[in-house]
Amino acid sequence: MNSLSSSPLFNFLTGRELTSQMKRFRTDESFYFCHQEVEEPLNELQKNLRAHGIEMEVASGFRSYEQQEKIWNEKVEGIRPILERDEKTVVDINRCSEIEIVEKILYFSAIPGCSRHHWGTDFDFFDPTFYKKNSQKLLLINSEYEPLGPNYPLVSKFEELFQKQHHQFYRPYLIPRGVAREEWHISFRPLADQFMQLFSLEIFLKNLEESNFHLKKIILQRPKYFYKKYFLVS
Ligand SMILES: [Zn+2]
Repeated sequence: MNSLSSSPLFNFLTGRELTSQMKRFRTDESFYFCHQEVEEPLNELQKNLRAHGIEMEVASGFRSYEQQEKIWNEKVEGIRPILERDEKTVVDINRCSEIEIVEKILYFSAIPGCSRHHWGTDFDFFDPTFYKKNSQKLLLINSEYEPLGPNYPLVSKFEELFQKQHHQFYRPYLIPRGVAREEWHISFRPLADQFMQLFSLEIFLKNLEESNFHLKKIILQRPKYFYKKYFLVS
């Protein structure tokens, strides 16, 4: 048996363990976990934005393997809708082959164990002002972050501060490649880049071996293809 499966690094990278490096933070609505080395830069970013009149909140930080597996399995089972690329039409899974289902899920959701949210370096952010005022729910769709959307001032200021102050966050999913554009997903680059480097094909394969999510067999047929197309895209 490969020693990788029980290694702390493997458990950390694939979200199987909430290590002591993860710290818990409260928001108005709930709480989230973030890597301890990201705490200060994230606070700094939030303060900076606030100084420019923009509120920023985290909708989602660390996500465990189990949470990602639940999202995945519910999509395969039809409990949770799978959306087409227009972000509106719901995929009729009864008319899709298994490979089609897997690729359609992967456009929006990571393979369990392979989400950047497992590292505590990546967050979905938004400006709560509009949502509170109008009692609306954040949907996490790109139109909310485009010029007419309530989060457009936030992303504009985020990019402006990046230009001026060189904060170390970036948005890895701005260009749709294997996966969808995600305007709301930010990442603490210095640390996330390191974890990305460490997440080798060997770890990817080990993760599959240790996993039991639905339709895993499809990914096992061509693991290198899925690793390159849906994981190494940011
Ligand atoms: Zn995200």
